[in-house]
Amino acid sequence: MKYNLGSIVVMKKGHPCGENAWEIVRMGVDIKLKCCKCGRTIMMDRIEFERKLKKVVEDEK
Ligand SMILES: [Zn+2]
Repeated sequence: MKYNLGSIVVMKKGHPCGENAWEIVRMGVDIKLKCCKCGRTIMMDRIEFERKLKKVVEDEK
């Protein structure tokens, strides 16, 4: 799956706030995701991210 900085992604498990759309706000060794509804951010390493990734919704840029 292809994803970039600014991509909106759907994970296998949503955020407790009820939303399951995340924006990729940082990409490095770790990936930082921002919840599209409440704005909370989470970090995970790339391997974990790819395991939990369900689909890439869109590329914003
Ligand atoms: Zn949230």
